Amino acid sequence: MEVDVLVIGAGQSGLAVGYYLRRAGLTFVLLDDQAEPGGAWPHGWDSLRLFSPADASSLPGWLMPRPLDNGFPARDAVIDYLTQYEQRYALPVRRPVRVVGVQQLGEGYAVQTDAGTWQARAVVCATGSWRNPFVPTYAGQSDFGGVQLHSAHYREAAPFAGQRVLVVGGGNSGAQILAEVSRVAQTTWVTEKEPRFLPDDVDGRVLFTQATQRYHAQAGQAPAPPPSLGDVVMVDSVKEARERSALGSVRPFARFTRTGVVWADGREEAVDAVIWCTGFRPALSFMEGLDVLEADGRVATTGTRATKRPGLWLVGYGSWTGFASATLIGVGRSARATAEEIQVFLAAGLVGTP
Ligand code: FAD
Repeated sequence: MEVDVLVIGAGQSGLAVGYYLRRAGLTFVLLDDQAEPGGAWPHGWDSLRLFSPADASSLPGWLMPRPLDNGFPARDAVIDYLTQYEQRYALPVRRPVRVVGVQQLGEGYAVQTDAGTWQARAVVCATGSWRNPFVPTYAGQSDFGGVQLHSAHYREAAPFAGQRVLVVGGGNSGAQILAEVSRVAQTTWVTEKEPRFLPDDVDGRVLFTQATQRYHAQAGQAPAPPPSLGDVVMVDSVKEARERSALGSVRPFARFTRTGVVWADGREEAVDAVIWCTGFRPALSFMEGLDVLEADGRVATTGTRATKRPGLWLVGYGSWTGFASATLIGVGRSARATAEEIQVFLAAGLVGTP
């Protein structure tokens, strides 16, 4: 099986790249290891909503339909949109196919999967980070007898009812999960520093505008935007938790015991469960054979193009692959740039040269 371009991952990032590769008339395929469309979105918790309205959360070419309640789209609406997007543009997605290795092969690449090997002249990684949740290490962690769950696998608050729960992590996941679990359990929010809440009227649109201003400021085309206003978007559930004074936070504990934690002041506290809202790392383990992975699990890039290997691009991993690239509205810009670079690369027969 041979194509011009092989895209690994068919979440929002892979689909956005596919949209532009299709317009470029290149032969391409998207391989995704999940049986259903939607990328990471099917794994989001039941009450998860976008932090921006539909028209500020769209992939190239097709505005996300506005929900009937005019609110921010729910997780299932995003899954529907990505499913229809794939069909609307007849993107060639093969699923479930898991990529297990990538080797450079003369002028291109051999991509090993659990369903055979593909050959491609260029490869785009769009595997996101959901498959690679990050949990910090604490002394005594393996002795702790309570439940430990990463936000990647959190679905709803009910299983924690009546328990003593630590929610660790001061970003949007931490705030939204704390807001929900604090309604049914005794919660403590553990954050490295005081969480910074955005003003109530600031949503994903403002954050994208700011990211765009930073993008143009970096290119010297516009004045730098004001410093970031904060990290946590005040979605309805977080506002409601604020009304209940449930958003207080404490600094990290010192270590685990079998039944709980010991705080920095030596106090011991019994804990039943810890929900880790401590983020993710890029899901790129299949790249180990290419000798491009840095110590932090990323790949050195110029824009989205890998600097150490010709014919290799990375899309959708957040700021190191383009401002706001880990968002629905932000990934379009880097997907378009990537498809344009690939076209030039293949046309000039640059395959195999740095
Ligand atoms: P993914 O959606 O993770 O898709 C990658 C695909 O590649 C998956 O299907 C995966 O199974 C597949 N894959 C991985 N490894 C392999 C392999 N080896 N072989 C084959 N397939 C593979 N973004 C917004 O725009 N607005 C929001 O409001 C928003 N809210 C968020 C809230 C939370 C709690 C979180 C965690 C994220 C949120 N995001 C939001 C970000 C957004 O969900 C992610 O950035 C997005 O899922 C990234 O899309 P992606 O296509 O890059 O990766």
